[in-house]
Amino acid sequence: MSGKRKLQVIMSVGALLLSAGLPLAAQVSPSRPAGQSAGAPTSQSPAVALSSPSPIGDTTALAKEAQGWLIDMVRTNTTNPPGSEQSIAKYLAHILEKEGIQSEMLDLSPGRSALVARLKSSAVADPSKALLLVAHMDVVGVDRSKWTVDPFAAVIKDGYLYGRGSVDDKGMLAANLAAFIALKRSNAHLNRDVIFLATADEEQGGDASIRMLISKYWDKFAAGYALNEGGEVFMKNGRVQYVAVQASEKVAMNVMVVARGNSGHASRPTKDNAVVHLAAAVAKIGGYSAPAHFTTIVRRYFEQLAAIEPDELGKWMRVLDSEDRGEHAQKVVSEASPLWSSMMRDTVAPTMLSAGVRNNVIPAEARANLNIRLLPGDTIDVLLAALTKLVADPQIKFEPQPDAGLAAPPSSLESDFYATISRVATAQYGNAPVLPFQSTGATDSAQLRLHNVQAYGLVPFPLTEEDYLRVHGDDERLPVASFTKGVDVLARIVAEFAASK
Ligand SMILES: [Zn+2]
Repeated sequence: MSGKRKLQVIMSVGALLLSAGLPLAAQVSPSRPAGQSAGAPTSQSPAVALSSPSPIGDTTALAKEAQGWLIDMVRTNTTNPPGSEQSIAKYLAHILEKEGIQSEMLDLSPGRSALVARLKSSAVADPSKALLLVAHMDVVGVDRSKWTVDPFAAVIKDGYLYGRGSVDDKGMLAANLAAFIALKRSNAHLNRDVIFLATADEEQGGDASIRMLISKYWDKFAAGYALNEGGEVFMKNGRVQYVAVQASEKVAMNVMVVARGNSGHASRPTKDNAVVHLAAAVAKIGGYSAPAHFTTIVRRYFEQLAAIEPDELGKWMRVLDSEDRGEHAQKVVSEASPLWSSMMRDTVAPTMLSAGVRNNVIPAEARANLNIRLLPGDTIDVLLAALTKLVADPQIKFEPQPDAGLAAPPSSLESDFYATISRVATAQYGNAPVLPFQSTGATDSAQLRLHNVQAYGLVPFPLTEEDYLRVHGDDERLPVASFTKGVDVLARIVAEFAASK
């Protein structure tokens, strides 16, 4: 073993011991239900030693570097539309180049490119073994009037880094980059190729999205496994309660509700007023709750969660799909959390309204957008049949929009990568249980799963429910201590899976 190698081993053992003790090695428990925020993480039981010392060593300096990258990326406005993700792709390429890592810009449309880079394990690449580290560069828009800080200034305040994309998804982008570069710097021998992929247009799923990326450049990043956003480390009262590793996701689509009636002079109101019929329909749809049923992953999630939730809630989680008490259990658990309610049924959320040309004109048409999330395997026809029956109004039509997501097969809970993620996460988050998760939100992972990639979602930063509710909302923020912890854990997961023992 080289002097340098010996030094590395001593360093990594030291780091392990260190991380077991230090408050920063926060393993905190998540928030259930909403509103019980907890602030920055605190220490919990020491980390369990992994199978062998990680080639990664102490990540404190690396996390500081990564924090600098995150700040630079938050300050680069990639609001989608238009996205202009090329700006960040160039920034990432520059950092990689400084590490002696070649990367390739994958052009998609003007100003919009993805970026790929690869660490090779051996001369002949074997895509079926390769590991893909995925994160997207675009962010959703902001309503600046609702933010207490500049959404693109990356202000650090009260232990939080504020900024659009700090959680979704530039934190993950910075952590993936850190894990990738740490592997390179460790000179560890790889047992599989590791691919860094920064994608575009995730938030809109349009012409520069992963669907287009795969159709044009699949051979550049074909892989058997992937780590992406989608899973969560739930924190409550400064403790990690559990780690949710996403292995499946609901299918997103939009449906337009269109009310049509006769237009006319507003001074002579009529019974077939399109605006009135639309409002009545939206009110009924807003109160609709689809019947619950459980996919394998969701059943496993609640079975394991029941063991760590307060008795009363745990009791109902154990009988969610039982003949006699299932219905009441579903009611209790759904009312406890919008997330849990959405995990067990198709959901419909009215999100946008449009009608009218003049204040004094009754319009011939009025429209509302429904954002729908189907459980994998469910079809839109069944849901629309239920809504049509509920609304019971011949003036109302439902028009599915062309941007529907595709249902993808879940990733296996028996794979060696899921086992590695679970083992490292349990060890690093203070023995917190690891649960399989079906996210209600959509990610790039669905498209990867449709190409036989075992894709798993884990945003490795311990966050409270309150922090999650800010994603896509106002004052999105990331606890700096959680970011530092996440960089460490993600680097260890990647090293544990890709570095030869
Ligand atoms: Zn995202």
